[in-house]
Amino acid sequence: MFERLKILYELQLIDDQLDELEELRGDLPNTVKELESRLKTLQNEVKEKDLKRAESLKKRELNEELMKKLIENQKKFKAQLYQVRNNKEYDALTKEIDHNEEQVAKLEAENDALADQSKQLSAEIEEQEPHIEELEKELKVKEAELKEIIKANEKEENKLLAERKKIEAKVKKPDYSAYSRIRKAKKGKAVATIKRSACSGCHNIVPSQRQLEIRRNNKLFFCEYCGRILVSTEISDSVSE
Ligand SMILES: [Zn+2]
Repeated sequence: MFERLKILYELQLIDDQLDELEELRGDLPNTVKELESRLKTLQNEVKEKDLKRAESLKKRELNEELMKKLIENQKKFKAQLYQVRNNKEYDALTKEIDHNEEQVAKLEAENDALADQSKQLSAEIEEQEPHIEELEKELKVKEAELKEIIKANEKEENKLLAERKKIEAKVKKPDYSAYSRIRKAKKGKAVATIKRSACSGCHNIVPSQRQLEIRRNNKLFFCEYCGRILVSTEISDSVSE
């Protein structure tokens, strides 16, 4: 049992060191993630607007072609006006001409609106592009900083991770799940020792009867205040020295 408790304490020591390395990175990993997501959102927005602008242009070109045909028809109809033989034909033709004119006017109005929309989209894109460039620059800087920190501690981290793997293999499965659960809940420390009669995790006094029991090193004890695994000083001393 002594070994079983000792190995848990060793695991905690390794994780403490890994946590320290993680802390060196500070907010950088989060900052990088956030910049990436902001950049992506902005890029997608610009992409969408660009697509809309292209569609608008295509539609305008189609309308232009249609208008050309209508105007040509119009000329033909107007020429035909001179050749009509009766009122009925005349009426039919003028009706056709009016209808044509209406259609041309409608298409013109539609194209004006589309052109306005394109202009608006272009203005928005132009406004967003510098933001994208800024974000890209910022992201590059932060990524480089993070990379440097990671690289500077890579050897140490790899060594620690290798050690951790060895230790983890020696930890009993239920102990490991208890350890992981407490570590997650307590954001770091899952194993505490007794320092000046108090739990080193939460600093609450451990009753002396309990301290005696813990000193027997014969089972897993949990701090009744913070829930951390409590090991005796014999265990902690046997590891750190
Ligand atoms: Zn405690």
